[in-house]
Amino acid sequence: MVIAGTGFAATFFLFRILQNAPANMRIVVLERGRLIEHSSRLARRGDKEFDPEQYFKRTGDPDKSWAFSLGFGGSSNCWWGTTPRMIPSDFELKTRYGHGADWPFSYDDLEPFYCEAEDLMQISGSAYPQAPRSRPYPLPPHGPTGADVILAKAWPGQHVPMPTARASRPTSTRGQCCSNGVCTLCPVDAKFTILNGMRDVYDDPRVSLFMETEVRRVETEGGRAHAFEWRTADGKLGSIAADHLVLATNAMFNADILMRSGDASPLTGKRLHEQVGITAQLYLDGVDCFQGSTAVTGMGLMLWDNDERRKDMAAVKFKTDNYGFMRPEPGRWRQVLPIRMVYEDLPQDRNRIIPATGDDERPTAEFVGRSAYTQRAIDRMADDIAKICAELPIEDIIYDPPAPSESHIQGTTVMGHDPADSVTDQDGLHHRWRDLRVLGSSLFPTGSPANPTLTLSAHALRAASRMEWT
Ligand SMILES: Cc1cc2nc3c(=O)[nH]c(=O)nc-3n(C[C@H](O)[C@H](O)[C@H](O)COP(=O)(O)OP(=O)(O)OC[C@H]3O[C@@H](n4cnc5c(N)ncnc54)[C@H](O)[C@@H]3O)c2cc1C
Ligand code: SF4
Repeated sequence: MVIAGTGFAATFFLFRILQNAPANMRIVVLERGRLIEHSSRLARRGDKEFDPEQYFKRTGDPDKSWAFSLGFGGSSNCWWGTTPRMIPSDFELKTRYGHGADWPFSYDDLEPFYCEAEDLMQISGSAYPQAPRSRPYPLPPHGPTGADVILAKAWPGQHVPMPTARASRPTSTRGQCCSNGVCTLCPVDAKFTILNGMRDVYDDPRVSLFMETEVRRVETEGGRAHAFEWRTADGKLGSIAADHLVLATNAMFNADILMRSGDASPLTGKRLHEQVGITAQLYLDGVDCFQGSTAVTGMGLMLWDNDERRKDMAAVKFKTDNYGFMRPEPGRWRQVLPIRMVYEDLPQDRNRIIPATGDDERPTAEFVGRSAYTQRAIDRMADDIAKICAELPIEDIIYDPPAPSESHIQGTTVMGHDPADSVTDQDGLHHRWRDLRVLGSSLFPTGSPANPTLTLSAHALRAASRMEWT
């Protein structure tokens, strides 16, 4: 087996493969970037020299950007560790509401793998009714802010602690989150990363890891994909053949590599999407905030798990933050609640990855615009915030423009049962080249308001568990 990438999708898949695979199996992992230890990142004050736009171009909406990091562990090095599950209706958007597409499996099918992924990441959280679970979270939830306490009382079971990979208690490899809110590079290594949580997967004697080795193309012949063409950072070229090829290079590069390899599936590259996030600061009269125990404390599902509304407009995740600007008035600094409204967006064919051509080796992310379904929900934002926060003593609301990115790249190689409307099957196996598997959020047929990484990690575990060994 040859796997491209060492992010969440590759590592969770490899973890399960190693549990099930024969002792004589050989697995080669090719990683485009370098391995940078957490201590070196701290010494260098983070990844300041990493600019994703060195690796792709963008056209369409000039305000839309896309975020990721390259190197061992992928974007686990810079993610924020917010890990809600998708809820059952997110898997059935077409059947229940007539929009988008259904996923090729249900919430119940994924549920055991959600539990496993949560255990591996040591997620802190408490059960909430919208996402039924078969076992408790491994770590207790984080503590709330003053505003969260009021919201939880006003919305029982609907405003809950945000599940997170920022540890609420020290773990064997991670510190306890101390809520300083600079999670892109956590100073105390409290958030799960591949480096601090699962790097030993790559120490297995069956695994050979090659760093700074980029997969360029899939070599195919007839109906088979038989090798990856690679290039090292110093320009050496070669190809490596295997019985199983796995692309886990994120939704930008999975699609680019496939299209440069002659993948003519009508949907490859299309349906690029992510959520739309809009932040606001709620000035409160007499309610102090910022006493929560992590960066993001609360999650409201009142406009997410809402069947009537979702027939007409996008679902929203309401999120309360425990970091951000304080108020300028002396003595009232903490009387402000930073919130974020996170809207699902419907995947559209017009938003897409265009493969690299000629001397410029960067793919282009073309984003023309968000769906009307999403815009209808955004247009109601002020009314929705007023309704959700009716019990808070709001004096003023300062709105920000929509964020350029939620840092979640989704779509581009969507999975499904029918090759006419998908690129891979439910396990990421390419409909045409059955020796080739694609993993990660590029497979998402739709994107819910949930952050995608827990779901894509659970999916990678499920896909590996369903692999048949002959
Ligand atoms: C700033 C930021 C904050 C985020 N916060 C959250 C959050 O709070 N919650 C959440 O759910 N998600 C969050 N995300 C998104 C999350 O990081 C991604 O969903 C996740 O990393 C995707 O996992 P992946 O394994 O598919 O891809 P990646 O993590 O991107 O890994 C891809 C891997 O492939 C390698 N690679 C790329 N191209 C090649 C090639 N050609 N050959 C070989 N290797 C290659 C890369 O170096 C990398 O190792 C955040 C992302 C960012 C950037
Ligand atoms: S809030 Fe602070 S301690 Fe917690 S994960 Fe983020 S950076 Fe680390």
